[in-house]
Amino acid sequence: MRVDVVTIFPGMFDAILGESMMKRAQENGHLSLGLWDLRDYTHDSHRSVDDRPYGGGPGMVMKPQPLFDAVEDIKQKTSEGPSGQLKSQTILLSPQGEKLTTSLAQELAVQEQLIMVCGHYEGVDERVRTELIDRSVSIGDYVLTGGELPAMVLIDALMRYVPGVLGHEKATEEESFAQGMLEYPHYTRPQDFKGMQVPQVLLSGDHEEIARWRKEQAYLRTKKLRPDLLS
Ligand code: SAM
Repeated sequence: MRVDVVTIFPGMFDAILGESMMKRAQENGHLSLGLWDLRDYTHDSHRSVDDRPYGGGPGMVMKPQPLFDAVEDIKQKTSEGPSGQLKSQTILLSPQGEKLTTSLAQELAVQEQLIMVCGHYEGVDERVRTELIDRSVSIGDYVLTGGELPAMVLIDALMRYVPGVLGHEKATEEESFAQGMLEYPHYTRPQDFKGMQVPQVLLSGDHEEIARWRKEQAYLRTKKLRPDLLS
């Protein structure tokens, strides 16, 4: 899949893209990532992407022109030959968007291309949201200073559902939220750590019993930590 990010801070993405799973996903051809500096689409000497809000008030608003030009340019430059463009969705990272969940990540992971727009200041001019953006995504009910961290969270969350990225697809089937519950607890060596023991059932080799125990533990910890998931 292709992900293109429109940002005024492309350097922020170095933090995740050159490491771990994200690096491997690019090397293996599962992820093709493009970073586009919004300031390259400005026409003034200050390369300004924002302006004062109509009606007054604090803060600045991201101007529509650089954003419209950037998205149009990305679609043009990333189109596959003369036959046409990739099927793409343009996503605005916004605290006002639909909340990121496992099912939203799975839905977005099957797209050919996602163009992610990172906001700043008070956010984007409303005409961007209504005319340029296909959907808005929030990573939670709190406000960050910019859309770069939310975009990285979204890329990480959805990459896990792109076939081949994790290398073991079953990993996403049992994890938290996949079955509407939190995942069961995990243990590794040593069997005795400072007097704290690994539950006996996990050492038994009885796979049916282990599966039953894990299911029960998943239920109990969900009931304790996230009862809202059970209702
Ligand atoms: N004035 C806006 C409001 O009250 O809804 C908040 C703007 S915020 C300071 C600047 C940018 O950070 C947003 O345009 C968005 O791109 C990003 N952002 C902040 N919080 C976010 C969240 N929870 N999820 C996704 N993006 C967020």
